[in-house]
Amino acid sequence: MLAEYDVLVVGLGATGSQALYQIAKAGQRVLGIDRFTPPHIYGSSHGQSRIIRQAYYESPVYVPLVQEAYGLWHDQERIAGRKLFTQTGGLMLGTPDSILVQGSRLSAETHGLAYEYLDAHAIRTRFPAFQPTPDTVGVFETAAGVLFPEACIETALQLAQAHGAAYRLGETVLSLSPKDNYVEILTVNGTHTARQVIVSAGAWLAQLVPELALPLTVARQVVFWFDHAGGRLQSLQPDHFPIYIWETGDTMFYGFPDQGNGLKVAFHHYGEPADPNNLNRQVTSQEISAIESVIGRHFGIDPIFREASVCMYTNTPDMDFIIDRHPQHNNVIIASPCSGHGFKFASAIGKILVDMIMDRPIDFDLTPFRIDRFTA
Ligand SMILES: Cc1cc2nc3c(=O)[nH]c(=O)nc-3n(C[C@H](O)[C@H](O)[C@H](O)COP(=O)(O)OP(=O)(O)OC[C@H]3O[C@@H](n4cnc5c(N)ncnc54)[C@H](O)[C@@H]3O)c2cc1C
Repeated sequence: MLAEYDVLVVGLGATGSQALYQIAKAGQRVLGIDRFTPPHIYGSSHGQSRIIRQAYYESPVYVPLVQEAYGLWHDQERIAGRKLFTQTGGLMLGTPDSILVQGSRLSAETHGLAYEYLDAHAIRTRFPAFQPTPDTVGVFETAAGVLFPEACIETALQLAQAHGAAYRLGETVLSLSPKDNYVEILTVNGTHTARQVIVSAGAWLAQLVPELALPLTVARQVVFWFDHAGGRLQSLQPDHFPIYIWETGDTMFYGFPDQGNGLKVAFHHYGEPADPNNLNRQVTSQEISAIESVIGRHFGIDPIFREASVCMYTNTPDMDFIIDRHPQHNNVIIASPCSGHGFKFASAIGKILVDMIMDRPIDFDLTPFRIDRFTA
């Protein structure tokens, strides 16, 4: 049977929009489908900002991938003539033996990345809004900064369309039926066929491949924006305030400079289990107070709550991604770069996905992202 498309991409968020662009650029007949109209607020890719950094505390394995991603984001900025990234520098804070500080140094040392190791005094002097305790140190890298997720997704979809990609928005994919030479994709509007399918459905991914029983947990995440009661402070602006992650005890929180709409801050990896079809978007006063007291303790500001937004992490048990072919169906590729840290890599993952589709050699070690670590 002759399939309608070479490739069909299910889900056009961070990952799917990049895959669509790269696949269209490679001259393939590609269709993208999304249940909403990306960029939207119902998945994992909204909220105005995402951190990008290289001294990757999670594992040195990610460093070559993020380096590739930087280049691809810059290419897309240049081609589209649109700002997708602001460099602010990045500060990873904790005690010298914290996971964050040790892991960031390990990645920097392993890959020869430029970084500075700052004591508490140096942190206060360089970044006056930060109020570290005397035993706090920081790993500072200048290359880190902020990606604008909505602009990234919109740009990738526009570039994809310019290269001939088709997409259907507001159409939910219900199921996939892989055959020998093609895949049948059933949606609320009918059936499509494609030689290969990429499933990049974020928090809904596991539902589309139920036979794999992937151990993914969807977690509700709240991000908050605060103003300083005394008005806009110079020390909170991007020139003086890098993106940061801060480990204190068993808590990690992270944030961004004030880019005109307040200081954005959130806890990392906390969050109750959630159903993506029925996400609780109400933010409680207790949730606001909890983060407010963290800001009060760690920054020299008097915080006033401005707004909050609810998002979802899709976590694997080891917090590493899934980028692999379906173990039973070679014509289905699964791409789930989340666990709360996937956005920055999306451009590089889009490139990996087109290489997989075209059967080209992959430049990265994808072993940590294999499905059989869960299904073997
Ligand atoms: C609060 C928060 C903060 C984060 N901070 C960072 C950060 O600072 N840096 C970083 O690198 N990463 C960060 N992340 C992680 C990053 O944002 C995610 O890894 C990334 O956005 C996930 O992209 P995705 O393409 O997998 O999912 P999404 O972008 O959510 O895309 C999935 C798409 O699939 C569509 N879809 C789902 N089911 C179907 C279906 N059945 N039919 C059709 N379409 C479907 C959805 O509508 C959606 O558009 C953060 C995540 C959150 C939630």
